[in-house]
Amino acid sequence: MTDPGVPRDSHDPARPATNLRVLVIGGGIGGLCLAQGLRAEGIDVTVFDRAPSMTTGRQGYGFHINETGDAALSACLPTHLYELYRATASPAATGDFVLFTAGLREILRRPLPAQTVDRPRVGVGVNRQTLREILSAELGDAIRYNSEFRRYDTGPAGRLRAHFADGAGEDADLIVGADGADSAVRGQLVPDAGFDDFGRSIYGRTPLTPALTDRIPPDFLHGMARAKDDRGRTLGAARFTAIEPFPRATARLAPHVRLTATGDYLRWTLSLREEGLVGARRFWGSTGPALQAIAEDLVATWHPGLRAIIDNADAEATYPFGIFCARPVQRWSQPGVTLLGDAIHTMTPGRGEGANTALRDAALLTARLADVAAGRSALSTAIAAYETEMLRYGFEAVENSRRPYFAAPMKPRG
Ligand SMILES: Cc1cc2nc3c(=O)[nH]c(=O)nc-3n(C[C@H](O)[C@H](O)[C@H](O)COP(=O)(O)OP(=O)(O)OC[C@H]3O[C@@H](n4cnc5c(N)ncnc54)[C@H](O)[C@@H]3O)c2cc1C
Repeated sequence: MTDPGVPRDSHDPARPATNLRVLVIGGGIGGLCLAQGLRAEGIDVTVFDRAPSMTTGRQGYGFHINETGDAALSACLPTHLYELYRATASPAATGDFVLFTAGLREILRRPLPAQTVDRPRVGVGVNRQTLREILSAELGDAIRYNSEFRRYDTGPAGRLRAHFADGAGEDADLIVGADGADSAVRGQLVPDAGFDDFGRSIYGRTPLTPALTDRIPPDFLHGMARAKDDRGRTLGAARFTAIEPFPRATARLAPHVRLTATGDYLRWTLSLREEGLVGARRFWGSTGPALQAIAEDLVATWHPGLRAIIDNADAEATYPFGIFCARPVQRWSQPGVTLLGDAIHTMTPGRGEGANTALRDAALLTARLADVAAGRSALSTAIAAYETEMLRYGFEAVENSRRPYFAAPMKPRG
């Protein structure tokens, strides 16, 4: 495999193909990045996703790509798609980390964490839908939607078989569970895996107009700002404004790629501690507009500049979310089945590392499987090496996410 960090050109068709057949369960950030990497290595890969089409789902609207995630994308994507992801991303936050009261009194101001400011060229914000569209570009029928994985077993000839909800079955040498925090693959492979509950949030997205931008406190538009009240509610927000308009970027770099248009927006998270509310049916069962109304109620006495973020949100795009953190697991012993991303090491968004770690897994697994394809390694040796390394750094990241940046001042009083 090409050195991580060095963009390279598309798959060389002259390269010898291999008989290895890999099924990736889950076409999220990690699964699609893996598929790009394997395809470039000439490895037969098919991605199965239960969703009917490429949708954002309820996973947040965007996130920060750090140096680790960027290196993985550079290693797995052909150069023109890597450049397209960079062009359609948003510049990283440039301001400070600032903590305010609900009345917008400044409690604390600190420089942003080093991972954001030390590498300003590397760190970018991405719109999740856009990144997924780029990651799925050129994969063609190697992605199958409406394919909900149910279970795997070993057939009479000793080959692994994945079974899907529609009754279909697919044989493989390797099944990769990249099916996110509720992973069905993990449910069968590591049934005792445990999780800690880190609370509930309401997620939203507020389209930015010049008039609204004038009303929102500047630190919420340019830095990493949070506001908290005495009842433990916390509002955080981050802006998405693409570096280059999508039509210009695709025309310049990849005219065949279609990207869904996305205007400037602020994505926000209202984190809650109200046990009564978050356990209630009206929280989990609410439609977007009803949930936005709940969020408006919760911040009704807050500063008008903060209320403006929630009052002007896209109501349909508001949804509830539970945050869970995986407990460490030992390596499993099922040959030919492995896990990647949130399926094994789901973590809190506290340090913004979940997607970046999923991308790192994808690049690492690509490199190990490239060794198999080139005859340098047996499949079992390659998977053992991947799992040992992935479990080490993956659960380090999980542990770090239990202590978000600036955790102490974020704690509610009393
Ligand atoms: C609000 C929010 C903010 C975040 N911010 C950041 C951030 O700033 N930085 C960061 O690094 N991370 C962030 N994260 C975490 C990040 O989103 C996840 O870690 C990342 O999406 C994990 O990628 P994945 O590929 O493992 O899983 P996912 O992206 O969740 O993809 C899983 C896929 O599997 C599919 N699937 C599920 N079950 C099945 C099945 N049975 N059969 C077939 N398909 C199935 C789903 O449809 C989905 O497409 C954030 C998360 C949230 C919720």
